[in-house]
Amino acid sequence: MLTIYRRHSRKCAHRSKGGEWRKCNCPINLEGQLGTKYVRESLGIRSWEAAQAKVRDLEAQSLFPEEVETAPVTVEQAIAMFLRDAKARQISDVWYGKLRYTLETQLAQFATNHGLHYIPEIGLEHLREFRAGWKDSPISAVKRLERIRSFFRFCQASGWISTNPAGAVKAPKVTAPPTLPFDRQEFRSGRFRRSAEIHSS
Ligand SMILES: [Zn+2]
Repeated sequence: MLTIYRRHSRKCAHRSKGGEWRKCNCPINLEGQLGTKYVRESLGIRSWEAAQAKVRDLEAQSLFPEEVETAPVTVEQAIAMFLRDAKARQISDVWYGKLRYTLETQLAQFATNHGLHYIPEIGLEHLREFRAGWKDSPISAVKRLERIRSFFRFCQASGWISTNPAGAVKAPKVTAPPTLPFDRQEFRSGRFRRSAEIHSS
């Protein structure tokens, strides 16, 4: 609770009337509990009404502090920060190039096309749709999805999103190990398909 009182000058004729006297022109002081601190200071105001209005403002401010506006991070900003971080981790140029293409070209374009401006706007359904648009082989798609996941993990760790929407996107089924050597001929002959069946079982 804040109170105001008149601090009469030595020459004031109303000095004897005390701090609550309203009709002289002496400075007004403020004293009391304001939020968590105790204050006692001059208001720099001589009008009783203006001082009362000032006190109401101060009390309202301490009860309802203005929320600091934090704008959500845009897709563009998040990608730029992620790539900067990747660069700082000194990953290989090839890997960096792939990250950059997946995010700066593909994800950013997808977001723009879907009117998604901020990172928190991108949900699981969007990412499923995004993945469905890839023309990759399953193996490349798995790697691409891993890049997307690492990006959203970065967003989550940065506090921009509370959950990672990419975490729940299922990886495409890879039916052959990436190192399996085969050519078109072998594929057509059915040797590859047989081995694929073994791996997918
Ligand atoms: Zn006075």
